[in-house]
Amino acid sequence: MSSLPPRPRVGLVGWRGMVGSVLMQRMSAERDFDAIETTFFSTSTAGKPAPKIEDCTVFDPVLQDGHDIGALKAMDVIITCQGGDYTKAIHKPLRESGWKGHWIDAASALRMADEATIILDPVNLPVIKDALAQGRNDWIGGNCTVSCMLMGVGALYKAGLVEWMQTSTYQAASGGGAANMRELLTQFGALHAEVQSLLDDPASAILEIDRKVSARQRAFTPEETKHFRGVPLGGNLIPWIDTDLGNGTSREEWKGMAETNKILGLGPAYGKPEIAIDSTCVRVGAMRCHSQSLTFKLNRDVPLADIEAMIRADNAWVKWVPNDRETTERELTPAQVAGTMTIPVGRMRKLAMGPQYLGAFTIGDQLLWGAAEPLRRMLRILLGDVG
Ligand code: NAP
Repeated sequence: MSSLPPRPRVGLVGWRGMVGSVLMQRMSAERDFDAIETTFFSTSTAGKPAPKIEDCTVFDPVLQDGHDIGALKAMDVIITCQGGDYTKAIHKPLRESGWKGHWIDAASALRMADEATIILDPVNLPVIKDALAQGRNDWIGGNCTVSCMLMGVGALYKAGLVEWMQTSTYQAASGGGAANMRELLTQFGALHAEVQSLLDDPASAILEIDRKVSARQRAFTPEETKHFRGVPLGGNLIPWIDTDLGNGTSREEWKGMAETNKILGLGPAYGKPEIAIDSTCVRVGAMRCHSQSLTFKLNRDVPLADIEAMIRADNAWVKWVPNDRETTERELTPAQVAGTMTIPVGRMRKLAMGPQYLGAFTIGDQLLWGAAEPLRRMLRILLGDVG
């Protein structure tokens, strides 16, 4: 049943950014705009005409000011992809003004707040429903790596089989933002240009090509590498993502355990023991898909056929990839998954350490399940259309 009035007023903030643009595409594709009265906000271009988005009839023909608490208060729901600074500046004064509407947010700023629920309904609809029943109204999208992982192997967690998990990630440039994707491609172009004449000559020496590429990578200017903190990503990888917590781990790695447990409704706040999860998070030169190599210790020996059945049955987007060379090379790559809702899970096998140890590999488009999709599905839940 819906907790909103018929045709609720929904304010969209951050709709023209990278995550916001993917959200607009998905909302059009799923005809979400049919059920709502939409108002677009901007933090920089208020007063300009509202965007023309397919199948979206706007309530306000001009962009409202994203900093105008009065205008925001008129909304039943606000969906923001504007970023953490915006959330920190606006959420508190808006709540303090007495606004009781639903706040749906892509930024991480509020994720671990006690009153906030991390949303990934194919995995944690019961947690979301409990929070709704308690009158909660802050709904925050999870970390992209965590959400994509749980969409793939959430079945093992739901079945209570996981004693611990370790993940090594291969995270795309898009996680840093649009400018990081452009920087990666520009670097690939510069490296290619450096050796183009040698590549055109089949008789040229590969070690000479390699030497020139390495020299160019090391000679990239601060301007050419500014979005990845002075380090080239083209032809390279960077085994650190997000801030340094000072204890040998990055914030991205810390999120793996903290957010997975919160999404699943585990940990002290829920009166249940946490599951230990650790990660090594690595940026690689992929565009928009995060990949992960997972190692599990299960709390008992479960036949692989049972694990396959559980994962296949878990949700409509997970795709089981048989653990053979042909299928893996064809279906388990970022290039194959980008722009799709599919979450392939493959390389599943028992490991040499013993029958309770399981290896797997999974991939997800981090702008879809990792960012935009859980937000629009939360709107659908509030409208009473999911679950
Ligand atoms: P973004 O592309 O930088 O967009 C954020 C805002 O920047 C836009 O809404 C827009 O706001 C403003 N902007 C200024 N110049 C722009 C231009 N030329 N084109 C488009 N927008 C422009 O941010 P994002 O990467 O989508 O991230 C938004 C939030 O989602 C962040 O909190 C981020 O942490 C979170 N998130 C990101 C990812 C990811 O992969 N990037 C994944 C999950 C969550 P105005 O219209 O108000 O000016």
